[in-house]
Amino acid sequence: MFYDISIPFAAATPPWPDDVGFSCGWTCRRDDGSSVNLGVLHTSPHVGTHADAPLHVQSGWPASESLPASVFVGDVALIAVPPDHDLAHDIGIALLTHLLGAHPPTRVLLRTGHSVAGGLFPADWPALTAESATWLVEHGVTLWGVDAPSVDRRTSTVLPVHNTLFGGGSFVLENLALEGVPVGHYELLAQPLAVHGADAAPVRALLRAKREK
Ligand SMILES: [Zn+2]
Repeated sequence: MFYDISIPFAAATPPWPDDVGFSCGWTCRRDDGSSVNLGVLHTSPHVGTHADAPLHVQSGWPASESLPASVFVGDVALIAVPPDHDLAHDIGIALLTHLLGAHPPTRVLLRTGHSVAGGLFPADWPALTAESATWLVEHGVTLWGVDAPSVDRRTSTVLPVHNTLFGGGSFVLENLALEGVPVGHYELLAQPLAVHGADAAPVRALLRAKREK
């Protein structure tokens, strides 16, 4: 059984305020006498489910074609921010280890409950503290994914989580559709497109329930 945890690149998916939303135009149409319908895509790479490239936060860091394929496939833990969590507080190491245990798997997805999946761009969402991001890197977490539009706070300009994870050799997924997926352990089957030179790449992401041993 698969869960499709992808948010589509679609005109109905709200982009970041002031960013470019998704549209699919036509270079030529069958109805106009052409031999094929031939589309052209126009979009920010951050609209639907995507992997940021390190280039997104630092000029000179790698672009999306350099994202390593193996990071996005394999065992993953899905955890969730508790419903009574105060949105004003970032996710510190105490809460992170409460949710994950002291020995996290190499891939972790977090459901914040604040996502564009419902058709509105969320006003706010909780993010890791810089110390929590460092803890993940130090404990060998190579992929950190969230349902929110960013692994950092909406209002952050310093982007400590992006910078700490990328600087430590880890990677991120954003805009995952995690509503209704039970917390637990899964196999992640995801892959960013090799979009050369881009600061992020669209991703189709699936979770497969792990077989009981
Ligand atoms: Zn992004």
